[in-house]
Amino acid sequence: MELDRAACQASLEEAAHRVRACRRCAIGEQRRNAVFGEGDPSARVMLVGEGPGETEDALGRPFVGRAGALLDRMLGAIGLARDQVYICNTVKCRPTSPGPRGPRNRAPEPSEMENCRPFLDEQIATIRPAVIVALGAAAAKSFLGRDFLISKQRGRWYEGPAGAALIATFHPAYLLRQTGGELEAVKRLVWHDLLQVRARLDEVPVPHHAPPTQVGLFEEGS
Ligand code: SF4
Repeated sequence: MELDRAACQASLEEAAHRVRACRRCAIGEQRRNAVFGEGDPSARVMLVGEGPGETEDALGRPFVGRAGALLDRMLGAIGLARDQVYICNTVKCRPTSPGPRGPRNRAPEPSEMENCRPFLDEQIATIRPAVIVALGAAAAKSFLGRDFLISKQRGRWYEGPAGAALIATFHPAYLLRQTGGELEAVKRLVWHDLLQVRARLDEVPVPHHAPPTQVGLFEEGS
């Protein structure tokens, strides 16, 4: 088991080295750091987001900053620590467009996601997670097709790559953009999805709708 883990780690490090050398897309030339991914090389859960943002690009790590802190709280609410999962993105370089005050984050282009897909596939094949959680519409579409509607089709299980069970939920950055009643509604949906993940890991059924009181579990300061 430990040997397996060490072999997976070595294989991921070798792939990360290739990602750092990759310039297949224009964003590969513009990035400050490639953001390969991090976490347990034998994780049962892999979280896949859209692409690195400004802070991730600066630090070379996925899901840092406010969205990362929220993701940590979401994981904590179902008893998972960040170092027990593996976190990465569909593209390993920060997609940007020019803005008046410097480069702005944007969604990855389909061509960038296609170029970067072999790296993601390699991560999945190495880690062989039991569960993949697609965070946000772009990540979900990359697995489930362009017609996938996160608002309608999240929170259900799909057949993922390499034998993994796949589920999609909202991206933490999307939650951070909501306010008031809309925020509470989205949190309730995300909580439902997180419980699905917990149940799949525990292999026990969960109620279809979570008790609303538990939504507070991943609130700031909790
Ligand atoms: S996004 Fe992926 S494929 Fe494109 S340059 Fe970066 S590492 Fe290479």
